[in-house]
Amino acid sequence: MSSSFVPDRWIPGERLTGRLPATLDGPADGEVAAPLIGVLGLQGDVLEHLRALRRVGARAVQVKTAAQLAEVDGLILPGGESTTIGKLLVRFGLLEPLQARIADALPVFGTCAGLILLSDELEQDEPQPLVGGLHVRTRRNAFGRQLDSFDAAIEVAGIDGGPMDVAFIRAPRIERVLSDEVEVLASVDGHPVVVRQGPIWAAAFHPEVTGDDRLHAAFVAAVLRRA
Ligand code: GLN
Repeated sequence: MSSSFVPDRWIPGERLTGRLPATLDGPADGEVAAPLIGVLGLQGDVLEHLRALRRVGARAVQVKTAAQLAEVDGLILPGGESTTIGKLLVRFGLLEPLQARIADALPVFGTCAGLILLSDELEQDEPQPLVGGLHVRTRRNAFGRQLDSFDAAIEVAGIDGGPMDVAFIRAPRIERVLSDEVEVLASVDGHPVVVRQGPIWAAAFHPEVTGDDRLHAAFVAAVLRRA
């Protein structure tokens, strides 16, 4: 949990107003250190995840290099375009280090394109670089095109306080769970949209754009428990 990595206090694009989380200053005596959670920062809605993580009290940093990846206690793979993120993972030399850290039980949370990247298999003929590790078979753009994107209230097992407010944006869905290690925490039309397999979490939607931070909070709590 101790880290020599000094998180940037300002992220390009972030408004220079508002309150910095006190946790960036480190714990006071008797407090538990906030975990350092990375957001894979190659493409996609990186900033929204960094903000959500900071709102729930984590220290949050962008991860663009293998050295940064080595420092984090957990990692979010954001939504965006999975083909682009996959190609950039290869180009930046991050694919193998990321696969190695996941094999070593790094807690990871993939949302939307992140879920696609973590899937062991895709329901499509064209190959694309995948991180893998999550034993599911996933279909990209399963709910239709951009125009078919929608907000929804979803009951998620283990998340208290009523349905979560989330956004499905050209979302994938899980067509098949390939192992009984995979727990299904929420489904839409009979298809899993939130799953957990040990330290690997994945959601088909965007939990970071609606201001409902309960899944981020649950993930950060799970990272703390493992640390
Ligand atoms: N359709 C995108 C893909 O296939 C995922 C969309 C998203 O992350 N919102 O990668």
